Amino acid sequence: MPVGFIQRMQTLLGDEAPAFLQSYEEPPTTGVRVNLLKTDVARFVAAVPWTLDPVPWCPSGLYVRLGERLGKHPYHAAGVYYVQEPSAMAVAEALDIAPGQHVLDLAAAPGGKTTHIASLLGNTGVLVANEVETSRIKGLGENLERWGARNVVLVNERVERLAVRWGARFDRVLLDAPCSGEGMFRKNAAARAEWSAQHVAGCAARQERILEHAARLVRPGGRMVYSTCTFAPEENEQQIAAFLDAHPDWVLVPVAPLHGFAPARPDWTAQRAPALAQAVRLWPHRLEGEGHFIAVLQHTGTAVAIARDVPEDPPRRKRRADAPARRTEVSAQGVVEQWQDFRRRFLRDGFGEGTLAVRADRVYLVPAPCADDSELAVVRPGLWLGTAKPGRFEPAHALALALRPYQAADTTALALPDAVRYLQGAALERAGPDGWTLITLDGWSLGWGRRSGGIVKNLYPKGLRWSG
Ligand code: SAM
Repeated sequence: MPVGFIQRMQTLLGDEAPAFLQSYEEPPTTGVRVNLLKTDVARFVAAVPWTLDPVPWCPSGLYVRLGERLGKHPYHAAGVYYVQEPSAMAVAEALDIAPGQHVLDLAAAPGGKTTHIASLLGNTGVLVANEVETSRIKGLGENLERWGARNVVLVNERVERLAVRWGARFDRVLLDAPCSGEGMFRKNAAARAEWSAQHVAGCAARQERILEHAARLVRPGGRMVYSTCTFAPEENEQQIAAFLDAHPDWVLVPVAPLHGFAPARPDWTAQRAPALAQAVRLWPHRLEGEGHFIAVLQHTGTAVAIARDVPEDPPRRKRRADAPARRTEVSAQGVVEQWQDFRRRFLRDGFGEGTLAVRADRVYLVPAPCADDSELAVVRPGLWLGTAKPGRFEPAHALALALRPYQAADTTALALPDAVRYLQGAALERAGPDGWTLITLDGWSLGWGRRSGGIVKNLYPKGLRWSG
């Protein structure tokens, strides 16, 4: 571990430093979080071959005591759970989500906290998942697709552009800030190698900028959660202290110091404001999990002036990460008609009712409009339903993963070995009517197949297939 880091932690923690440093000799904790959109914890625990224990601060979280290759179970491909470090599960819980809220996750990739928020919203309200790094959008999109929420908008923007265009409209904003990652040193050798005092200072300067813009997106009365997975006071208490100094219309909301959470440390700031102790630190020597910092802030003001201090960029011309490459041969009306025809023939239970958006040859089910997104790099305006091709409609993988088996007119239920073969790309022999069939395993959808003459063509996306 970096010497400068050890020295700083010894100075900060004093008598507690040996216990803290000793925790680095222990193996890191591993966890999974159950997708409450698709199942419940009891059913999940009964279905998987692992030894699990509840994570005290997250009702859908489980420690994995015995179990391996967690990302390689077909239930993972079905979006039944997410592999997540247990301390990270405290963050979305701290947002205090209520159904119907409009929630913005500003630094969303790879999607751990976004998928958690999606479960807490239960397909109500709107969840905007934003990630500034274009290279991280694909992975985020895949994780969200598996999760199967119907109310998620995927955006690839800078936070300041969102603040200027959208202003103070969200009930909840999460800033899971890019940080120096000291809390992940047990798990992440790259974070250890990258560490330096200058890196910490650089992260702190960036966090200050993003936090300022993030706050402008919270409606009066709304809340923002600021979190990091690092120990440096510059990135944690000192950020919050400076923010509160500059924003008298914001207050900290206490996070209950339950489950081994420790109060944050006002004495590690120049201001020493006692209220700072209402934020929490998760320490690896005090609980079962890695290091985290969580502050919940409430906007108590009545109105917000949005300074238009960001230059108005011209609309982006370059192709967006997920945008169709070529112009469509089918009109927007034609795209909708093809979707409606598919829906009539292959779906049940009114699935797909709601507002549609057509982008080139793709159609999306969009959540209640929360804001004007013209001029912003919206990668997916909602749940991707499918793509219109001349004379036929291809349902999206995202649609398959958002469906429950009873919502499909035809399903092909597989046992575990056949499910693995399906994920590897094998065709299946199954009698039944010609047409689209939803492939399922134990009541969870895995993807599409198209049957013709008793052979089910495998439409599991090529880029996601498992190697044999
Ligand atoms: N919330 C994610 C999760 O739970 O899976 C992890 C987010 S990670 C701690 C921080 C994210 O911030 C990264 O995806 C990174 O690309 C993004 N990021 C980096 N620079 C940023 C900036 N200037 N503004 C906003 N986000 C930034």
